[in-house]
Amino acid sequence: MISLQEFLDVNPTSFHVVNTTSLELEKAGFASKSYVNADSSHFAQDQGVVHRGGALIAWNWPVNNPASDGVLIFGAHTDSPGLHLKPNCSSTTLGWAQLNVEIYGGVLLNSWLDRDLGVAGRVHLADGTSKLVRINEPIARIAQLAIHLDREISEKGLLLHRQHHMKPIWGTNSSLSFTQWLCEKIDFSPQNLSGFDLQLFDTQKSALLGSSGEFLVSGRLDNQVSCWAAVKSLIETTRAQKPTLVALFDHEEVGSESINGAAGPLLEHVLAELLLNRKDSECFATIAKKSVFVSADNAHAIHPNYQDKHDHRHAPMVNLGPAVKRNANQRYATNGELASRVVTAAQRAHIPTQDFVASNAMPCGSTIGPISATRLGIDTIDLGVPQLSMHSAREMCGSKDPDYLVDLFTLLGSTDF
Ligand code: ZN
Repeated sequence: MISLQEFLDVNPTSFHVVNTTSLELEKAGFASKSYVNADSSHFAQDQGVVHRGGALIAWNWPVNNPASDGVLIFGAHTDSPGLHLKPNCSSTTLGWAQLNVEIYGGVLLNSWLDRDLGVAGRVHLADGTSKLVRINEPIARIAQLAIHLDREISEKGLLLHRQHHMKPIWGTNSSLSFTQWLCEKIDFSPQNLSGFDLQLFDTQKSALLGSSGEFLVSGRLDNQVSCWAAVKSLIETTRAQKPTLVALFDHEEVGSESINGAAGPLLEHVLAELLLNRKDSECFATIAKKSVFVSADNAHAIHPNYQDKHDHRHAPMVNLGPAVKRNANQRYATNGELASRVVTAAQRAHIPTQDFVASNAMPCGSTIGPISATRLGIDTIDLGVPQLSMHSAREMCGSKDPDYLVDLFTLLGSTDF
């Protein structure tokens, strides 16, 4: 499995996460297919993968295992907040060539200013096929207004209009057409290009930071850290205790309600097809009762400059292990009984964990855990690596925590916890 930094650097979009993950799993012996083209025989593979768009489901489930003790599922999301190109994205203003973008998810808008942006995603061809694209060279920039022209910024803060102020500049040629430029870059004739799903990304690569490299900084740590850890542990767990799946969903950042999101039926449908091909299997409802879903998504570390945002007794710190996230109002799906089993197993194996419960004055976000738990009726725990700058174009976490997450997943996959 490639390193986490490589993973972050080659995956500017959810489509790339799925592609990279699928290739890594294939190298490890998993049979991979597009979900749409996967027939029944594909689900009879002991180790397999199906993928569709920005979502992927992988399994290590021997065909002669009826899963009477349930299955273990690691879930995470492949998408990150960002700026997507609109279909008619070329525009000109006062001699500047600009790109029309649509804001995807809860973007920290200020973090996208004055960055060197590349473009990536997938293009669709006239013959009905699609192709992944990643142009690493910086082509665009959302230039911040100079302080001399924004005299109230220190008193009133930075105010950004989502439509007017987030349009990147990418040239001075008023006849510049994005699709023409793109076709030249990827060596396509414009007649062959029928559409695209493209987004901008920060071309600066991930890095270790801090006096002794104790931090990892990159775009998309939320939630590619969890995707990477789940896949790495699936590959490296040689003696799985029970059938294990990894479910990587798209569209978490916009509420998960899509065919490739956690609120869609993808995982349920794949489980149904896997069960059909497993000898003597019980029905899904019986298996669900004994199964466990580990929903991994990053957590908020306590911020030294904003310490009153956390409840100090439940405020995760970086490099002290994954945080188990709880919320009595069910914004996280963690139940006490399952959390106790996981934390006890982790303690026995000397893997650190922490607790996160939001301050009552600061309602917490949510994630795929409660959505999957509601859909599938499987006991769920929400946990994740603590980080700062969540939803910034460049986020920050502890450099040790991703490995602790892999250790925890591998432990859960290989023991009867
Ligand atoms: Zn997330």
